[in-house]
Amino acid sequence: MKRLISFFMPGGILVFASLLIVHTDVGYAYLPSVVDIYPYIVLPAAGLIGWRFNRGSLVFAVALLAITDRTCVYFLSDFPFAGALGRGVFLAAGIVLPVNLALLCCMKERGIFTSHGILRIGLLSFQGIFMALFMKISPERALFCLEYRFIDSDILAGTGLSQPVLAAFVFAFAVVMLRFIRNQGAKESGFFWVLVMCLICLLEAEFKTSSVFYFSTAGLILCVSIIESSYAMAFRDELTGLPARRALKDDMLKLGSRYSLAMLDIDHFKKFNDRHGHDVGDQVLRMVASRLSNVSGGGRAYRYGGEEFTLIFPGKYAQEAAHHLEELRKDIESSGFVVRGKIRPVRKPKKPSKNTRSDSRVSVTVSIGMAGRDEFNPRSQDVLKAADKALYKAKKAGRNQLCT
Ligand code: GH3
Ligand code: MG
Ligand code: MG
Repeated sequence: MKRLISFFMPGGILVFASLLIVHTDVGYAYLPSVVDIYPYIVLPAAGLIGWRFNRGSLVFAVALLAITDRTCVYFLSDFPFAGALGRGVFLAAGIVLPVNLALLCCMKERGIFTSHGILRIGLLSFQGIFMALFMKISPERALFCLEYRFIDSDILAGTGLSQPVLAAFVFAFAVVMLRFIRNQGAKESGFFWVLVMCLICLLEAEFKTSSVFYFSTAGLILCVSIIESSYAMAFRDELTGLPARRALKDDMLKLGSRYSLAMLDIDHFKKFNDRHGHDVGDQVLRMVASRLSNVSGGGRAYRYGGEEFTLIFPGKYAQEAAHHLEELRKDIESSGFVVRGKIRPVRKPKKPSKNTRSDSRVSVTVSIGMAGRDEFNPRSQDVLKAADKALYKAKKAGRNQLCT
C-alpha cells in the first residue's frame, strides 16, 4: 500500500491536476497567463536543482523536455495544418522523446560535464541533427519511415500517432516499469509520470498553451523526483533498503510518551565474514534486514550501522514489545542461510553430481537488548543507551537471546 502511494505521489497527482486544469473552463481561462511564466520558472529550476544535486540524467531529461517544448511551439503552433514538415516534427518528437527518457531513466548517474555526460549530450544532439537533416534532404522518405504501418489497424490510426511513435512509447513504458519494479525509486516513478504527461500532450496535439503547460508539469515532476531521490539517498541505507541512522535520529525526536526501543546485533558476524567473504556477509545483512522489516507489533526497523540494527515500537511498553522481539529472534534463528558453493558448473547438469554441490546451510543468530521509556530513561537517547546496555548483557550471557 505504501509503495502504491509513493508511486502515485506526487507524479500521478500532478498529471491528474494538469488534466483538470486544461479540461475545465475555469482552469483553461487562466492557462494563457500561467504558461507565460510557468515554463520559465519550472524548467530552469529543475535543471538547476539537478545540476546542484549532480543528477545528470534528470538534467538531460529536463533539457530534452525544454527543447521539445520550444520545437513544438515553433513548428506546431498551427498543427495539424502545418503540412508535411509539421507532421514530421510531430512524429520525430514522438519517437525521440520517450526513447531517450527511458534510456535516461536506466543510465547510471555519471555527472554532467564529465566525459560520460558530454557523450550523452553528443548522443542527444546527434539525434536532433539527424532527424532535421533527414527531413531536409529526403522529406518523403523521412515521413514514410515515421508513418510506417507495421499492422493494419484503424484503432491505432485513430490515436493520431503513427505506429513507430506508439512502439516508442510501449518500449519506454516497459523499460521504466521494469526499472520501477526493480528499484522502486522516486526517479523511476518520476520518469513514468513524465512519460504519461508527454503521451497525453501528443495525443491531444494542441501545441500552444496546453502543450507548454504539460511539458512544464513534466519538468516539475522531474524536479520533485530529484529532491525525493536525493532525500532517499541520505535517509535510506543502500545495502539493506532500511531507513538509515539519520532517519532514526529524526524519528526518535518525534516519539510520544510511550514507546520502546531495541538494539539488535548479529552474532559472530566477523567470523562469518572471514569464513565466507564480505559478499556473503552482505547477503546475510540483507536477509536479517528483510526479517526485521516484517517484525510484528508495528515495529519500525533501522540500520544503525555495521551489523547493528535498531527497532522502534511506538506506543508499546517494553513488556508488550518483548513478545514481538522474541518472535523475531526465533524467526531469524530458524531461517538459516544457504551459502552457495564455490564450485558451480557453468551449465545446469542433467543429473546432480555430488562433486558440484557444495552449498552449505549456516545458522544466523542475533542478540537483542531492549528498553522502554520510563522515569529512569525519559529521553529517547537514554532509552537507546539502556537498550545498548541490555544488548551487551545478551552478548555476555551467551548470545542468541533477548535481554532487557
Ligand atoms: P559479536 O557476536 O560480539 O557481535 O561479534 P561480531 O563478530 O558480530 O562483532 P564485531 O563488532 O567484532 O564485528 C562486526 C563485523 O561486521 C566487522 C565488520 O567487518 C562487519 N561489517 C560491518 N559492516 C559490514 C557490511 O556492511 N558488510 C559486511 N559484509 N560486513 C560488515
Ligand atoms: Mg556489533
Ligand atoms: Mg555482532
